Amino acid sequence: MSRVYNFSAGPSMLPEPVLKKAAEEMLDYKGSGMSVMEMSHRSNVYMEIHERAEATLRKLMNIPENYSVLFLQGGASQQFAMIPMNLMDKNRKVDFIHTGAWTKKAIAEAKVIGTVNVVASSEDKNFSYIPEDYQFSQDADYVHICTNNTIEGTLFPQIPDTGSIPLVADMSSNIMSEEIDVTKFGLIFAGAQKNLGPAGVTVVIIRNDLIGKHSEQLPAIFRYATHDKEKSLYNTPPCYNIYVAGLVFEWIDQLGGVKAIEATNREKAKLLYDFIDESKLFSSPVDKRYRSLMNIPFLATSDDLNKKFIAEAEKEGLFTLAGHRSVGGMRASIYNAMPVEGVKKLVDFMKKFEMDNK
Ligand SMILES: *Cc1c(COP(=O)(O)O)cnc(C)c1O
Repeated sequence: MSRVYNFSAGPSMLPEPVLKKAAEEMLDYKGSGMSVMEMSHRSNVYMEIHERAEATLRKLMNIPENYSVLFLQGGASQQFAMIPMNLMDKNRKVDFIHTGAWTKKAIAEAKVIGTVNVVASSEDKNFSYIPEDYQFSQDADYVHICTNNTIEGTLFPQIPDTGSIPLVADMSSNIMSEEIDVTKFGLIFAGAQKNLGPAGVTVVIIRNDLIGKHSEQLPAIFRYATHDKEKSLYNTPPCYNIYVAGLVFEWIDQLGGVKAIEATNREKAKLLYDFIDESKLFSSPVDKRYRSLMNIPFLATSDDLNKKFIAEAEKEGLFTLAGHRSVGGMRASIYNAMPVEGVKKLVDFMKKFEMDNK
């Protein structure tokens, strides 16, 4: 068996030690005689997995007591709807900083529930930067941002100060990739399939005072209050996905936590950006100040060369490098689980490709 370096934007690579551990425990989880896939979500053996996943996540992200951690389903996309359903209370109004395809989708869902005010947008330059000039509405119920724009390859260089207005952040593609101060946020959400585990579980970290603002018309399944009260066991949770995410959390913990993985992430991104910057063949479409550490789009000088690059890279075991259709070219997603060696191999291949295509 030979594994490839998979640069997919999501679902993406999982750490090999995590996959091996899950394989070892597949048929008989710790003497239970069953797979985690087969267990009752009310059993003691599963409860221990569920609680340990939450505890390790809390430790890694330094989540204060006054925040709840929820494991939900429906992906980050379901949060685009659940957030306005639960957080639009007083004025039914939200401020957005519009930075790409994922805020576009979130804006469309929020509009179904209330009034959307786009306070800043980088659409004028194809979302190649993060706007830094904006003023929030005094009467906004919350502000929505996407900290790392997976498709466009941009990252907020600092977290906006929203004062007393709760800040909601889509961190699907950069959660746990660098240290953040959770207390700056009212709500953080992330689909697992980029940096946390398999698709099918969504992590929501919500400040307790934001729970319970929903209207009585909202069905129980869509209320944060329901999932908080039932500790994410209101209905059958995605048990296996939570288990694998828990293994990923333990893997990060053993490596030295988020601080350690951030240092490795910076090293990986630097390897790639430094080469792109000195290359005559490849270029980056993103403004340098806002470059993502996780998703790195780049372009060769022609579309034919882009295609040739992607095809030849695959032969070298470098997979899923095609850029998103809205950006074109290539995109290397180098999440936590991508080893430094994978990025080195990519850069070496890019160098060779440039020499061969002078
Ligand atoms: C992938 C992604 C989403 C969508 O996630 P789903 O789990 O497919 O709903 C939303 N936001 C960001 C930033 C993403 O990267």
